[in-house]
Amino acid sequence: MTNDKSRSALKILLNADIKACRRCEGMNENGVTQSAPGWGNLDSPVAIVGQSLCEQCMAPQEPFYEGSGSLLEAAFKLADCDKQDLFLTNAVHCHPGGNRKSLVVEIANCSSYLYRELEIVRPRLVLALGEDAARALLFLYPTARKVLSRFEPPKNLARRRCRTSISRSIRHGSNVNTTAPSKRST
Ligand code: SF4
Repeated sequence: MTNDKSRSALKILLNADIKACRRCEGMNENGVTQSAPGWGNLDSPVAIVGQSLCEQCMAPQEPFYEGSGSLLEAAFKLADCDKQDLFLTNAVHCHPGGNRKSLVVEIANCSSYLYRELEIVRPRLVLALGEDAARALLFLYPTARKVLSRFEPPKNLARRRCRTSISRSIRHGSNVNTTAPSKRST
């Protein structure tokens, strides 16, 4: 079994690979289409996977920073946990300039990094926020036990419902016994 020290070492190597990656044309340019590796607690039973790195996430090198991250922060509060207790990443680790939709080739190119991150963290529950994240996870884990529900852009009441639903999922994942990680859910 991989111990904590070697998992941290693997994550450091993985972060360096992501920062140096040039697989996708026009991606991973500093301050324009920059990348950020997955972030947070490597022991988290819950991983949250978004679509791609947002513009404001490039400088702090932190997925879900402000913007849609504020919705997640509210969900974390409801679930009685902090952002740093969880593991957060994206299907596409670079920022697609101008907030354009990720290309299929970018999702495919980046999927090996997502896989390596999840193999290090080994969460019991993976929340896919968005179509691209769900597609990447279903490709990587076709036999995972899954509950799919569509993630709608939150507005007014929908925003509250969405926040509550995320917090319930986090609570559920956090309450699962993590001593014998063998199965994942998406
Ligand atoms: S999106 Fe992923 S695969 Fe493409 S350049 Fe960035 S880190 Fe590399």
